[in-house]
Formats: sequence, structure tokens, C-alpha cells
Amino acid sequence: MTDFEPRTVWLVGAGPGDPELLTRKAERLLSGADVVFHDALVGPGVLALARPGARLVPVGKRAGRHSQSQARIDRMIVAAARAGQRVVRLKGGDPAVFARTAEELAACRAAGVPVRICPGITAASSAAASLGTPLTLRGQARALTFVTAHACAGDAADVDWQALADPGATLAIYMGKAMAGRIARRLIAAGLDPATPVALVENASLPDERRFDSRLDLLPIAARSVLGEGPAVILVGPALDYAREPAAAPDRGSARALTAGAA
Ligand code: SAH
Repeated sequence: MTDFEPRTVWLVGAGPGDPELLTRKAERLLSGADVVFHDALVGPGVLALARPGARLVPVGKRAGRHSQSQARIDRMIVAAARAGQRVVRLKGGDPAVFARTAEELAACRAAGVPVRICPGITAASSAAASLGTPLTLRGQARALTFVTAHACAGDAADVDWQALADPGATLAIYMGKAMAGRIARRLIAAGLDPATPVALVENASLPDERRFDSRLDLLPIAARSVLGEGPAVILVGPALDYAREPAAAPDRGSARALTAGAA
């Protein structure tokens, strides 16, 4: 372990859940860490790869539950590094996507603690893989926009719905389960075709993964009726047409459950 000196913090992407979707580098860092501060979304399969004897510290923040403040997490990782430990801060998906990485980088840099990032597979990529669809499509989906539903939840005036309702792009909506209905209505009001293909994937890459495809105007029903407790990502745009399995009926008149369970 030449590149994991004590007193260093690695912000490591754990991927969407399946331990096989970790990078080899993430696995190596996990097996060398003295302490692993991990999100609630990081499951036992990934944590099992930590070095036996490593300290595993949950610092998860789940919507609606009591959460550790970000400032406290920042202090904990800095203190562990200063105590001479090899620190892994393990985050679901990719640390660069909706993961409060900026705060942790800033805290480490302000404290003079060396900090590095190991990327991971983000939920949208994992969901697309499970659906068997691309996220971009030559000539039809030329851009890919990552948004959080929280960003969409503000006043209509705060959100550029016109830009989000781009028919030539794919929208990947994180943390969007509870707000799926509102988002669909706003996108349609901003001009997006109600028949635009959408897909929802819950627990992407995990054994209890569930996948659904539908169309934008039916997204509220799909989100209400088909999703369970797990994290879910919503994908919207013409590229999602490829999520249809060849044997599926040609119309998308109702939300259809694609084959449940990880492939
Ligand atoms: N850094 C993470 C995102 C963290 S925000 C990443 O790159 O994936 C948390 C949100 O990510 C969840 O609300 C959900 O929208 C999405 N998410 C994380 N893991 C997921 C999974 N296994 N399946 C579906 N969505 C997931």
C-alpha cells in the first residue's frame, strides 16, 4: 500500500451497492484503511471488504431521519487523520455526485490533511446498465443532466424548468421518489412530451433491485404504486426507449415492471 500513507483521507466511491461494482482501487483502499466512515447507503457486501479489525463508523444521513451534521463528519475525518490513521470516507455511488464531497475536501485542506478521491459508479450509470439502455443517444439525447429532486422542489421561479425539459437530453433525477409527481407535472408544463420515456430503478445493482419503465405522464402513478423503501433513481428522455425489452408491447400505456431482481 504505497499510496495510502497514515494521516491521509481517501474519499472513496462505493458504487451502487453490488460489491462487484467497486473499483479495484476502492477495494485496495478499503483493505488498507484503519477507519472507514461510511454512508447509510453503503451495504454490508461492500463493508465486508474492509480490513478485519478496521473501525467501521456509520455517519449516514437518510432523508427524514436524524442525521449527523456535515460539520461533525468533517471534524471526525480530520481528527482521525491527525491521529495518524489511514482514513477512508466511503460514499455511495461516486463521491463527485451529490455526496457533500466539497465540504470534506475543504475541511481536510483547511486542516492540512492530504485528501484524495477514488471515483465510483454513480446510481444513474448502474440503473442504465440494469435497464439495458444507454443514457446518451446520438442525435437524440446529446446531454445528460444530473439533478436532485431537492433542487426541483423549490419555487417554480428558482428552477429553470425550461432547461430541464430539454427533449434532446436525458435527465437523471436523484432523491426523487417522493417528488416524482410534481417533477413530471412541471416538466410537462414546461413543454416536455407527456409520452417521453421514463424509467425508475430502485436498489440498482442489489439483489432486491426493481426496475420499471413508463412514460412521463404516468410517472406519478408509477412512483406511488411501484416503489418500496430503497433508494431510487428516475431517468427521463428519449434514450430510455431502449429500456424496453424486445418482447414488450409497443405502447407504454401503463407502468410495467421489467424483470424484477438483479440479473
Ligand atoms: N453519490 C451517489 C448519490 C448520493 S445521493 C451516487 O453517485 O450514486 C442518494 C441518491 O442516490 C438516492 O436518493 C438515489 O436517488 C440514488 N441512489 C443511490 N444508490 C442507489 C441505488 N442503488 N439504486 C438507485 N438509486 C440509488
